Amino acid sequence: MQDRVVILGAGQAGAQLAQSLRASGHEGEILLVGDEPWLPYQRPPLSKKFLAGEMEAEGLELRPAAFYETQRIGLRLSTPVEAVDCREKRVYPKAGEPISYDRLVFATGTRPRSIPLPGADLPGVVTLRGIADVDAMRPLFKQSSRIAVVGGGYIGLEVAAVARSFGVEVTVLEAQDRVMKRVVSPAVSAYFENLHGENGVDLRLGAGVAAFEGASQVEGVRLADGTVVPCGMVLVAVGAAPNDELAAKAGIEVSDGILVDGGGRTSDENVHAAGDCTRFHSARYGRSIRLESVQNAIDQAKAVASDMAGKPVDYDPVPWFWSDQYATKLQIAGLSQDYDEAVTVGDPASGSFYVAYLAAGRLIAVDSINHPRSHMLARRSIGEAWRADLLPAA
Ligand code: FAD
Repeated sequence: MQDRVVILGAGQAGAQLAQSLRASGHEGEILLVGDEPWLPYQRPPLSKKFLAGEMEAEGLELRPAAFYETQRIGLRLSTPVEAVDCREKRVYPKAGEPISYDRLVFATGTRPRSIPLPGADLPGVVTLRGIADVDAMRPLFKQSSRIAVVGGGYIGLEVAAVARSFGVEVTVLEAQDRVMKRVVSPAVSAYFENLHGENGVDLRLGAGVAAFEGASQVEGVRLADGTVVPCGMVLVAVGAAPNDELAAKAGIEVSDGILVDGGGRTSDENVHAAGDCTRFHSARYGRSIRLESVQNAIDQAKAVASDMAGKPVDYDPVPWFWSDQYATKLQIAGLSQDYDEAVTVGDPASGSFYVAYLAAGRLIAVDSINHPRSHMLARRSIGEAWRADLLPAA
């Protein structure tokens, strides 16, 4: 295949796709176009070891520069793209000449959701998606004796844990009545609420944020009940939105994500998409899903490479994910949202247990807390009828 493939977004999915496409025998040009200045890198450590200073930026790189050279993968970094013309088959960077393609792949990822509240643009109110965000956060971490985190999801809680390891006072403001409510059961939320409490985090559930206050820099968060939480930095971690606007403007079908089939094909015959920016129908879960995980970025990119190489696959994975908070590792296999029964195996007080989620008697997801064996087995057992010996004992 001699086509010129342009991949828009040089992140986890884009880099994997370029690599897999070459490995599948694609002979033509492959060009990765990304707006960030760095070689494609992994994001999970940004809220974990990299933020903690236990890892250098080079350690984040998915592949060294030499790899892209030897694989003849062109890299055009620091190149934000402003428009795509699917009829002319061209991509328009903000600066410089248009880039033409035979086939285009969107791998544009997501961006943090913002909250349109008074004071949201004050210096010191930050979000976390890339290396530049960590670079901006680090000095604030060092200067501030107190920070606030809006949002008790994975990223907010991971940052809270790192901040506590530096001795910073942390208040987590969560609007729901428990942390990580969208993704885990009450038992798992309760475990993590205790864990953060034991580590000195001031966790406020059901907290409505009304405004960010300060003169030239954020100095506090005002809550709906009038309370002010003083702080020198606020991390807003209230979820992510797919970067699907360019695709939508180009006439490609989107609906909270670029709509793709099992081979990553979009509504335009010359355009695929992979990673966080996509939404696809899962027969396994009986609904359309949008995943934000390394597993999905890698596996969906592989599926797209296979489809482009003329070997169509029907990508419908068992999703999996992890989160590190203090010394605790949470591993999630499957999607638990539609469960009708949750079985806790082991004693949460021991710090090692798992929760199996069932729907109509079948295993649909497992959350493993410091219990890697159940996670690995769960990834192979999702969809099976539940029985007590399906997964290991506590
Ligand atoms: P990205 O890696 O985000 O890459 C998209 C790239 O496209 C970005 O560089 C973006 O800047 C670029 N781009 C977007 N628009 C344009 C444009 N118009 N022009 C040019 N370039 C553009 N997942 C896990 O499984 N486990 C974890 O523990 C975990 N922790 C995480 C912690 C943090 C702090 C974050 C932010 C994410 C974490 N994730 C984790 C999620 C995981 O990193 C993502 O799912 C993964 O990076 C998705 O890959 P992607 O290629 O789709 O998007």
